[in-house]
Amino acid sequence: MRTHLWKLYALAALLAIVAYQLIPETPAWKVPWQVGLGWAAAAAIAASARRMNRHDRLPWFLFAAGIFANATGIAVAEFCTLVLDQTSMPTLADPFFLGLYPACAYGLVLMIRRRESRRNTAAVIDSAIVTVGFGLLAWIFVIQPTAFGLGMTAAAKAVQVGYPIGDLVLLALTARLLRGGGVRGSAFWWVTASLTAFLVGDTCWVVLGNLDEQVQDMLLVNRGVESVALVAYSLFAVAALHPSSSGLSRSTGDQSRGVSPALLLLLTAASLVAPVTLIAQAYDGSVTNGTAIGIGSTVLFLLVVGRMSQLLRQVERQSRLVRELARTDELTGLANRRAWNDELPRALEVARRDGVPVSVALLDLDNFKTFNDTYGHPAGDRLLKEASAAWHGQLRTTDTLARWGGEEFIVLLPAAGPELATEALHRALTATPAGQTFSAGVAAWDGTETSDELIARADSALYRAKHAGRNRVLTAEPALTR
Ligand code: GH3
Ligand code: MG
Ligand code: MG
Repeated sequence: MRTHLWKLYALAALLAIVAYQLIPETPAWKVPWQVGLGWAAAAAIAASARRMNRHDRLPWFLFAAGIFANATGIAVAEFCTLVLDQTSMPTLADPFFLGLYPACAYGLVLMIRRRESRRNTAAVIDSAIVTVGFGLLAWIFVIQPTAFGLGMTAAAKAVQVGYPIGDLVLLALTARLLRGGGVRGSAFWWVTASLTAFLVGDTCWVVLGNLDEQVQDMLLVNRGVESVALVAYSLFAVAALHPSSSGLSRSTGDQSRGVSPALLLLLTAASLVAPVTLIAQAYDGSVTNGTAIGIGSTVLFLLVVGRMSQLLRQVERQSRLVRELARTDELTGLANRRAWNDELPRALEVARRDGVPVSVALLDLDNFKTFNDTYGHPAGDRLLKEASAAWHGQLRTTDTLARWGGEEFIVLLPAAGPELATEALHRALTATPAGQTFSAGVAAWDGTETSDELIARADSALYRAKHAGRNRVLTAEPALTR
C-alpha cells in the first residue's frame, strides 16, 4: 500500500488541480483550495521524511518547511488584504512566500553534497553558465528596473528583488543537481519537475506583469499561472511519497555526466544571452545595460573557457590512461607483448649504431599446468605475479621484462652478450618463488637478423631447454647462414 501511495496522491492532486479551474472566482473558494493543496503537500513530505533514516531525512524536512511557508503565504496575503487592508508591498505575506527559497536551497545544498563524494568542477561550471545567462536576463528585465525604479520604498524594493534572486538560487541548484552525480530514481525526476514548475510559475508572473491589463485580467490565464504553483507543491509531495525518495541523498561511484546535444544547446543559448541582448539593445537605438551585459559576457566567457580547459585536461588524462592500459599486462603489471614489441626495434637500432651487443630471452614456467591443478587457478595467478616481481628484481634496471602470454615471459637485455644475459637469467631462475622453476632460451643478436628471427632463435633454445629436462637456461644456436 505504502509503495503505491504516491500514485494515489498524484491522482488526488490532479483531480484537485483540475477542479481548481472550475471553482468560483472568490477568495473564499480559492484561498482554502490553494493553501489546502500546499499544506497537504508539506504534510505528505514531512510524513515521508519521518520514515527515512537520520541521514536522509533533513533535506526533506526543509522542503516540507519551505512549501508550508509558501502556501501559508497565500492565506496571509488574503488576511493582509481583507483584515489589515494592506495593499502596498511589502506585506506580512512576503516573508512566508520568500521562506520557500532558503528552506529549499538549504535542502538542495545538503542533498547535492551528500550525492557526491568528490569535487565536481564540471557540474559547478555548467550550472554557473546557465545561471549567469538567465541571471543577466533577470537583472535587465526584473532586478535592475525594480531596484532602481521609482515609487517604491527601500523595503518594498528589497522584497521585490528577493523573488528573482531566490529563483536564480533555485535555478543554480536545480542545474547543479541535474549535472551532478548520485542516484537517479523516479523521485529525482519528480523533484526536478517540481523545482522547474516553481521557476516556470515565477517567470509567468513576471511575464504576466509586463503584459497589458486585458490579458492580466483574463481569468483563464490567472488560474493557469496559479495552478503552476499547485502543480509544483504536488510534484514535490509525489517525489517524497515515491519509494525512491530516501535514496536521493546517496552517492554512486560515478559522478560524471555525459555532454548531450540538449546540454550543449542549453549552454550555447545561455552563453549567447549577453551578446544577443546587446545586439537587440543596439538595434533598438540605445544600449541601456552596457555594464551588466559587459560583466555578464566576461563571466560567461571565462566560464566557457574554464569548462573547455577542464574537458581538455580530462581528455588528456584519459588518453594517458588508455595508452598505459594498452601497454601493461593486467595481472603482473609488467609491460605486455605490444609494449615489448615497440622496444625491440629501438634496442636493435641502438646496438647497430653503438656497436654494442643486445640479447633476448624467452622463459616459460615449468609444469605450470600441474601447479594450477594442484593449488588452483588463483594460486597460479599469484605465482605469476610473485615470480615476475622476483625476476624483475634480479634483472638490471635497463632490462625489460614483459609478459609474452600465459606463463611465458620475454626479456630484452640491451648491452648484454650471451654470457651476461645467461648469468642474469640464472639469477632470476634461482629467485623463482614457491620452489618453482622455469626453462629459458637466450639469443644474442647477430647484427643482421630481423627481430622475428632473433625471437625465433630464443624460442628454439627454450624448446631445447624443455626437452633437456627443464629448470635450465640454454643459449641459442647461431643463425643459419642465409
Ligand atoms: P611446461 O613445463 O612444458 O611448460 O608445462 P606447463 O604445464 O607449464 O605448460 P602448458 O603449456 O601445458 O600449460 C600452461 C598452463 O598455464 C596452462 C594454463 O592453464 C596456464 N596458464 C596460462 N595463463 C595463465 C594465467 O594467467 N593464470 C593461471 N593461473 N594459469 C595460466
Ligand atoms: Mg610452461
Ligand atoms: Mg607455455
